[in-house]
Amino acid sequence: MQQYFKVKNKYPDAILLFRVGDFYETFGEDAVKASQVLGIVLTSRNNGGSDIELAGFPHHSMDLYLPRLVKAGFRVAICEQLEKPSPQKKIVKRGVTEVVTPGIAMDDKLLDHKQNNYLAAVSFGRNELYGLAFLDISTGEFLVQPVALQNLAAALERVEASEILLPERLAQDEKTKDVLAAFREKVSPQPSSLFDSQSAQKRLEQLFGVGTLDSFGAFSRAEIAAAGALIDYVERTQKGKIPHLSRLQQLSGSACMEIDAATRRNLEMTRTLSGERKGSLLDVIDCTITGAGARLLQTRLSSPLTDIKTIHARQDEIESFSGAAPLREALREQLKDVPDMERALARLTIGRATPRDLGMIRDGLRNAETLRALLQKADMPSLEPLTTGLQQNEDCKKLSDILSAALETELPAQTHEGRFIAAAYDAKLDQLRTMRDDSKRLIAALQTRYREETKIETLKIAYNNMLGYYIDVTARHADKLLIRKGETAPDNPFVHRQTLANNVRFTTADLVELERDIASAADKALAIEQNLFVEFTQKICALAQDIGRIARAIAALDVAASLAHLAVNRQYIRPTIDNSLAFDIRDGRHPVVEEALRKEAQSFVPNNCDLGEKQRLWLLTGPNMAGKSTFLRQNALIVILAQMGAFVPARSAHIGLVDRCFSRVGAADDLARGRSTFMVEMVETATILNQATQRSLVILDEIGRGTATFDGLSIAWACVEQIHETNRCRALFATHYHELTSLSAKLSALSCHAMQVKEWKGDVIFLHSVAEGAADRSYGIHVARLAGLPENVVARAQNVLDLLNKGEQSGALAKLADDLPLFTAQWQEQEPQQNFSEIAQKLEEINPDDLTPKEALEQLYILKDLL
Ligand code: ATP
Repeated sequence: MQQYFKVKNKYPDAILLFRVGDFYETFGEDAVKASQVLGIVLTSRNNGGSDIELAGFPHHSMDLYLPRLVKAGFRVAICEQLEKPSPQKKIVKRGVTEVVTPGIAMDDKLLDHKQNNYLAAVSFGRNELYGLAFLDISTGEFLVQPVALQNLAAALERVEASEILLPERLAQDEKTKDVLAAFREKVSPQPSSLFDSQSAQKRLEQLFGVGTLDSFGAFSRAEIAAAGALIDYVERTQKGKIPHLSRLQQLSGSACMEIDAATRRNLEMTRTLSGERKGSLLDVIDCTITGAGARLLQTRLSSPLTDIKTIHARQDEIESFSGAAPLREALREQLKDVPDMERALARLTIGRATPRDLGMIRDGLRNAETLRALLQKADMPSLEPLTTGLQQNEDCKKLSDILSAALETELPAQTHEGRFIAAAYDAKLDQLRTMRDDSKRLIAALQTRYREETKIETLKIAYNNMLGYYIDVTARHADKLLIRKGETAPDNPFVHRQTLANNVRFTTADLVELERDIASAADKALAIEQNLFVEFTQKICALAQDIGRIARAIAALDVAASLAHLAVNRQYIRPTIDNSLAFDIRDGRHPVVEEALRKEAQSFVPNNCDLGEKQRLWLLTGPNMAGKSTFLRQNALIVILAQMGAFVPARSAHIGLVDRCFSRVGAADDLARGRSTFMVEMVETATILNQATQRSLVILDEIGRGTATFDGLSIAWACVEQIHETNRCRALFATHYHELTSLSAKLSALSCHAMQVKEWKGDVIFLHSVAEGAADRSYGIHVARLAGLPENVVARAQNVLDLLNKGEQSGALAKLADDLPLFTAQWQEQEPQQNFSEIAQKLEEINPDDLTPKEALEQLYILKDLL
């Protein structure tokens, strides 16, 4: 236990898995947590002092339990036995060999092949400009970006990091605390010294082997500090090893369309509101074939561009592929054989690879060449950058040839048994293998000889780890071979080794000699294979930058071909993107709702949306369930798809570049941050009014619903005026406040639109089409009936609505209060003797201002008696 505590003290914030014989044990607090997360038994042990909790699992279940702990958000330190136990040693040497954390995972069981696993770090900067760095050690991507405090949450939401490192000082800071509240579970505070920008700069220069980082970009001190902290953290958890990283890339603050955290969530871009990928926009548009392609698609969707040139280049690629079906299909077929080179490369560079990783590089390079040849043959100018990206230099080609010649087709998942180098690659290896295999043949011959000599037909030569090779005969025959006490039998070569219940085991001098030959040939062969493994790994690491580039080109090719496939199969078109302020979508569709309807053999009703200069603010009214939210979201999603460089679900689309996309849709409280539903709604609205520019797109699905009717209406009214007059952005505003439509007389660029419905035989039919004009009713009661509200409640609601529609509101309400048929009916059923109308009458007669306190008390007694 002393040894345990010594190690544990070095890893106070991790769960320590302490190897004891065949088990990994956890103690104390760790044991309590582990038993809860893993569902393993919690016991206690007395270690000479007080009792301590204990929970453990067999070492061979590591693959099962480690991912569960890490996925639950824990950091896990693995403490191994560093020497073989022996009776002489009372305590074996132990030490931590690896720390696995949610952001630092290499194991395939911990990683989703379709998703990046980022470790992020945020550092303080001057003028409220922070440094955000993020790194995926399983693929080598390494990026930094400057972020203003107000955009920090949005950037972190975009990156979807599994773990966020913060200097302790920053974690305590009031301003950031609030911003980071939503990421609390992922934040891992670190000593502030880890974020020292000077040592970070040195560390980065050393890592990339450059004298200065200037050629990578002009980084702020905060960015460098954050990037350096990441490297330091990886180095510490990986015992000094750092995987291959692509050169540090800087994302400029304005390179991507900004999408704030709430909008990203509400639009369900990469996950649904319940947190799943299935049902999100990403899920619906993902037709990629490779893991790297799926990851790149997610990155692109998460960060739509604001650079027209790059958007056009991506569109050109898709257009080329959508017009060339045979080429596209041939490429997609070929992509099925492409392994995940990025992740294999990361494992190779960090020293955690197996022969299969060598095989993945071999197959990746081989396939890259086939893909390149296909592209080159097609000879399309727009595909040239992809073709160049796949180009292999002489060294890569040489490596590819070597790996092809050297490796077996089927490769084992571990190095320690060899058998991954193919025959005829290394002459010495072939020679040793022949010797080894010949020796085996000699053993078979020896067995035949002994059978003949002893006349024991069942004699066999077998092998186990304890005895090595031995001769085995059944007990019945053993006598023939045994030399009795006192006897001498110079001709008997059999030496007794072991007696079991039914068998007796022997050895002979010949067998021992043969075994030695086999072992030494096998050992030597294994050593050669392992040396070759190291040699190939080094060769690959030396070419890591080139291989990484080729892997990225394959991913980009997969994304372009898949988006073309999507466009062709679902009738998506190329949008026109320019610097104007246009927004003209014809027959636009909601990609996700359309897919959901298609699965039920229903069709989606397409709609136009023109937010041109003269009608940049659309006020959309219409009944519940008519499709307002769908319409709003579809237009935002079309913009996002368009600016990620994809085609869009519409007949035509002309979009002037959007710098930021805002939304206020859905309603949920944020109790973790102490915000009620209405407060969340107002915070989101405030963000929009304060930040939307003329180039932004804003969608508002109702404002002011969570408060009193007039408060809500007034807030909505003022917001519409502000958006129209001050923000002047393109905006869609869906509302049930039909009163707002009267603003169209005053605000010139406000245009009223309504969702169409048809009334037929007392029923309402939703047409889901948008037309000019304003709706006069919401048909909420109709929807309430559809939702299954009790019939009497629906009838009463209709009754109340009729009254409210008829008269002036306050008068109508007073009348309603006099007459509560619904509740009286119910209460009377339960307790018929209660006389509410008499109580009401009595109350009517009382004028509280005329009563003394004593009289008031008397009246209260009278009323109570009436109950
Ligand atoms: P509420 O005011 O109650 O929030 P809403 O007007 O926002 O309602 P939506 O949630 O957009 O209505 O749409 C309701 C349902 O109608 C959707 O789930 C979808 O199934 C269907 N729908 C919406 N738009 C269309 C369309 N254009 N074509 C076909 N079906 C549609």
